[in-house]
Amino acid sequence: MSTTRSMTDIAPTVAALLELRPLAGATGSPIPEVFSDLEGAERIVILAPDALGQWQLERFAEQMPYLTSLCSERHLVLESMMPTITPVNFATMVSGCDLDGHGIRSKDMSFTCETLFDVLEEAGLEGAGCGRETYTGGQLLARVAQIDGTAAVPDDAGVEEAVLRIAEENRPAFIIAQIGGTDDHFHRFGPTSKRMIPKLREMDNRLERMVAELRALGYSGMIVADHGQHDSGNPEKGGTHGTDMDEDRLVPLTWFNAC
Ligand SMILES: [Zn+2]
Repeated sequence: MSTTRSMTDIAPTVAALLELRPLAGATGSPIPEVFSDLEGAERIVILAPDALGQWQLERFAEQMPYLTSLCSERHLVLESMMPTITPVNFATMVSGCDLDGHGIRSKDMSFTCETLFDVLEEAGLEGAGCGRETYTGGQLLARVAQIDGTAAVPDDAGVEEAVLRIAEENRPAFIIAQIGGTDDHFHRFGPTSKRMIPKLREMDNRLERMVAELRALGYSGMIVADHGQHDSGNPEKGGTHGTDMDEDRLVPLTWFNAC
């Protein structure tokens, strides 16, 4: 497995790439491999397939040929923050702080530190937060971003539409998107279930389409999950997360350049 870095390194990497000032509370630091490959990027996008952890990616590599091929070229493993839940880790992605630093235990809370959106604003730039209305993407990221990227239709296709429309029409310097369907399906069917295969193939196709369009619109970017999942052990419950087990905590990071 590749070198392990921390979820707190994502926001400092974005700030360095966009030549923003360092985030005041961030405890992470720019990731040299990502910085050297994407240096000079004018715009950065983060696409986050929810709960698609390192363990899930390895297990279902054959079902996700696109993501697997990206990872075969450029790949690091990140440790997500405790507890390994969605709002905590998306808050870390935009602040560089852990829960004690950013204060976001649930998606309706307010940041107690500054975020990428604050330093973008200071630099006269804009950021977009995208996702479904009742999810962290819509309730937290869209609320604190300059551009509200709440999906018009509450599914992954709606998130894809919002991201690509904003990228084309507004061209903000930064976009972050929660693509939530994989988490829902892992909860329902379990992260080792063959019943996940259609959803994983769909996500792989979606990422391939989005990256192609975003690269053509001048976006470099990263694909990273917020956390993974493990089997609950209860056949009626499927998957769960929130613990410090490797299945929950370790997530893949890969990255790509604009055309
Ligand atoms: Zn979940």
